[in-house]
Amino acid sequence: MAEGLKPLYSPEEIRSTIGRLAGEIRADYASRTPILVGVLKGAFVFLADLIRALEMPVEVDFIRLSSYGTRDVPTPKAVITKDIELSVEGRDVLVVEDIIDRGTTIEAVMDHLEGKNPATLRLCTLLLKEGGGTGRKIDYIGKEIGDGFVVGYGMDYKERYRELRALYTIDTKDGGD
Ligand code: 5GP
Ligand code: MG
Repeated sequence: MAEGLKPLYSPEEIRSTIGRLAGEIRADYASRTPILVGVLKGAFVFLADLIRALEMPVEVDFIRLSSYGTRDVPTPKAVITKDIELSVEGRDVLVVEDIIDRGTTIEAVMDHLEGKNPATLRLCTLLLKEGGGTGRKIDYIGKEIGDGFVVGYGMDYKERYRELRALYTIDTKDGGD
């Protein structure tokens, strides 16, 4: 483990959280084939484990948004830099995000996808920061956490630490994507 990282959740805790989320999702989408849309880059590890825990047919696509500078600086609405490629019109769409803080990013994603007329549009996040969130309903929440900057399990600080199997908080003043 690199210096300055404090353990948040172990691989076992992540696995059991994903197992619980998968059970909820499986029950809600019985006999349907949702399109899971992962928000790049941070959600790719979570999405990979989630689809295998689901044990039901799914389709997968990705969307990416421009990252903004620091957490403390207000920024304009996030811009989509890579759109999904599947047609979602009339389909069940489940957006899969790693972490929701202020909610700016996920609101841009949800607004954008809503414009493509899916039959249903839901949201799943592994982590939700306390005091953060969005005006939108979050249908599936893995863990609610305190106010530290999280890395590992796909999430980075300046592109580092995505490969770590566990989740950590890191001492830093500025945020990342
Ligand atoms: P928002 O504040 O718009 O909810 O989140 C902005 C972006 O920063 C999102 O892509 C979100 O996944 C990412 N983000 C928010 N908090 C953290 C964090 O603690 N660690 C990392 N690595 N990314 C974060
Ligand atoms: Mg993200």
